[in-house]
Amino acid sequence: MSMFSYLKSLSLLELLKGLRVTGEHLFKPKFTVQYPDEKTPLSSRFRGHHALRRYSNGEERCIACKLCEAVCPALAITIEAEPREDGSRRTILYDIDMYKCIFCGFCEEACPVDAIVETRRFEYHGENRGDLIMSKEKLLAIGDELESQIAVDRAKEAQYR
Ligand code: SF4
Ligand code: SF4
Repeated sequence: MSMFSYLKSLSLLELLKGLRVTGEHLFKPKFTVQYPDEKTPLSSRFRGHHALRRYSNGEERCIACKLCEAVCPALAITIEAEPREDGSRRTILYDIDMYKCIFCGFCEEACPVDAIVETRRFEYHGENRGDLIMSKEKLLAIGDELESQIAVDRAKEAQYR
């Protein structure tokens, strides 16, 4: 430690700086949200529970390219794929282990067809072992339920690109 830093530490300058910030906020009006009766606004980029989307004709968007599985830093996504009779490639298994997920958003960024997305849903829980391992069926059901909000949020995001 240099002499200057040593003398500075004796002056308690950093402590006084901290106390100044505390003092500034002491008499300001407090902002308390009475959750769950009140909720704060959410960004269109909020990274909540995942969903798999479909096109308007009902066809699932995912083309089983596995980019999301490759990019996931938590190794939370497991995909198995097979070609259909018409030659198109689709998943036969798409699981997200929500116990592992760190909600980084890399999967939705990597997806070339906007199939896997993170929604505004953040209130969910599991009561039994395995409840938070989300299968393709569960993810598609969430996508079907929230599609109108997801479409609005994706359109907003497209404006910023
Ligand atoms: S949000 Fe991140 S950690 Fe979670 S599944 Fe997607 S890539 Fe993996
Ligand atoms: S969700 Fe997107 S990135 Fe993942 S396998 Fe399907 S198409 Fe590829």
